[in-house]
Amino acid sequence: MKKTEAKFGIHRPVTVALAGNPNSGKTTIFNALTGSRQHVGNYPGVTVEKKEGRRLHKGLDITFVDLPGTYSLTAYSVEEIVARNFLLQQQPDLVVHVIDASNLERNLYLSVQLMEIGAPLLLVFNMSDVARQRGLTFDVPLLSQLLGPPIVQTVGSKSQGIDRLLDKVAEIVQIRAMPVYRYHYGADVEQQIERLVQQINTHPQLSQRYRPRWLAIKLLENDQEVCKEVQDESILELAGECAGHLETIFGDDPAIVLADQRYGFISGACQEAVKSTVESRHDVSDKIDAIMTHRVLGLPIFLGLMYTVFQLVFNVGEYPMIWLETGFHWLGGLVASAWPQGSDSILKSLLVDGVIGGVGGVMVFLPNIFLLFLAIAVLEDSGYMARAAFIMDRVMHKMGLHGKSFIPMLIGFGCSVPAIMATRILENRRSRLTTIMIIPLMSCGARFPIYALIIPAFFPEHIRGMILWVVYLIGIVLAVICARLLRKTLLKGQTIPFVMELPPYRMPTAKGLWLHTWMRSWHYVKKAGTIILGISIVLWGLTSFPRPSAGQLEGLSSGQAQSAVLQHSIAGRVGRTMEPVIKPLGFDWKIGTALIGAMAAKEVFVSQLGIVYSLGEVDEGSAVLREKLRADYTPLQGFCIMLFCLISAPCMATVAITRREAGTWKWAIFQWIALTILAYGITLIVYQIGSAAGNL
Ligand code: GDP
Ligand code: MG
Repeated sequence: MKKTEAKFGIHRPVTVALAGNPNSGKTTIFNALTGSRQHVGNYPGVTVEKKEGRRLHKGLDITFVDLPGTYSLTAYSVEEIVARNFLLQQQPDLVVHVIDASNLERNLYLSVQLMEIGAPLLLVFNMSDVARQRGLTFDVPLLSQLLGPPIVQTVGSKSQGIDRLLDKVAEIVQIRAMPVYRYHYGADVEQQIERLVQQINTHPQLSQRYRPRWLAIKLLENDQEVCKEVQDESILELAGECAGHLETIFGDDPAIVLADQRYGFISGACQEAVKSTVESRHDVSDKIDAIMTHRVLGLPIFLGLMYTVFQLVFNVGEYPMIWLETGFHWLGGLVASAWPQGSDSILKSLLVDGVIGGVGGVMVFLPNIFLLFLAIAVLEDSGYMARAAFIMDRVMHKMGLHGKSFIPMLIGFGCSVPAIMATRILENRRSRLTTIMIIPLMSCGARFPIYALIIPAFFPEHIRGMILWVVYLIGIVLAVICARLLRKTLLKGQTIPFVMELPPYRMPTAKGLWLHTWMRSWHYVKKAGTIILGISIVLWGLTSFPRPSAGQLEGLSSGQAQSAVLQHSIAGRVGRTMEPVIKPLGFDWKIGTALIGAMAAKEVFVSQLGIVYSLGEVDEGSAVLREKLRADYTPLQGFCIMLFCLISAPCMATVAITRREAGTWKWAIFQWIALTILAYGITLIVYQIGSAAGNL
């Protein structure tokens, strides 16, 4: 005994725990690693057997602990609690997760939980002989990149791969830095985790003992052991609130929601890196996915769904839009006619033309916006959006990017600002910058009112949905092309693979849909009532002043006089100065002033046209804005307006967020200039070819 102690003494002692599902071959591996140097006892207080064994290897004195077999690390069984407490309290230098590779997806569930607990992890794909017999092949390097921890393949019963395993163990425990595995839940869950983590961090006695993120997750799952441990009322109360919030959104117990997301992560990783020559699982989600993410059908289905959504947004949204339009028009007329004759007409103009004309112009599209966001919420909450990203993944791989970039891009359909923030999920700076640069090409909600104004004004009912679909598609295609260009030039570099998560399909809850749709729509209303209102008033001022002297207006009819006032104003002059530049695109000075307004916020394009046409209005009872546009411009000009607004300079908020997330002004300015030039070039080509073709 003494002799061995002395011999072990020169070696650095480390503890390595073996975790795994029952029957994954843990004990077999343990025996192969430690031979006869074993010690069998019990975990304190419970009748669960504790096996320890020692092995000297490369200057290390390694104590292996064979943990009880568990399927997960919840607190439902004694084995789970024992294994979990060992990991939390003893904090082994390394956890070796022995996996039955012939049943990979189910086994990896425990891996994800081990990652969460913050343990340094090594995955052992045991039973790899059985896996091979079942026709499974693993892309091990890819899987290791997707999941995080390194992977070693073994056949425990034949002692194959044991030396490699030992070498890997020695290699990892020499690296002292704690690994950070990058598994993220969806935005809704992450938000609640973040809230809890912040609260936990204010309690050092907890945050120093446990990984705060793990505690937060367990609290959301209402883990009884952890709740007992935490004690603090304020944290428990917040945890209840956060869990309740998730329950309303998902319509399911948060513990189940989180489990689903873990399975989604695993299933995404396996879809990418495991090939099977035989058919395996066949649950409902898999059956749906066999069609939805089909290699050939996936993309047409995605495009078809988008098409249906846009068709719906127009067809259903048209009626309430017309009511609102008529309502605002009536309100403007009412205010104008109620105004005392001869009193200050500037104030009247500010109210009728600036406020009602400007903000009203944007507000009439609320029903369409609401429907659009509702449709997006249905696609997101049902789990389809994750599939859309998965399908785009294939397209984007061909373009040198990874599908994970498509997730912020999808968010970009709502608003570029949160989308650019969401690029934080991309670790590689070059991939991230590339994605930030192209996000403004994803047509955001603020650009929608422009389409909603233009499309019904110029295009017959049956092709409206299609035109909108084409506009969105042009954005996506340009984004992909630009990304490819950037990755080949300024932002050259390798793409790191990521897991595309495929959570199971679920029925969206009414509450969740309502919350997601309402939050975004309310944001639109708030923006209209604040930023758009402010800019509208400024633009009204620029469109109304300076006024020509009474002498200059003498002898003109009222219509001619209005037009003279507009042309005399600052906006009119700027528009006229711009005209030579934008004329080749088919734009006149009125559109020019609206484009300037749109640089602040895209909706302002609509409100500014509302102001211009409201000011120029001869009699109060004349047609709504759309009909006036139809009289002034051609469908080609209409299309070019949409094209330019889609591609051109991002709004101020986007510029600011790009500056923040990219770290320098350089990228924000580059983005602004490059997109504006691109918009100019493409619109020029389309307008010139279009009008030449029209003249034939
Ligand atoms: P534990 O419950 O995780 O400790 O699993 P055991 O180590 O007791 O192993 C369960 C069974 O699987 C035993 O009959 C082992 O001989 C067998 N086994 C272990 N590793 C392998 C392997 O790599 N391939 C095959 N075919 N059988 C294995
Ligand atoms: Mg065993």
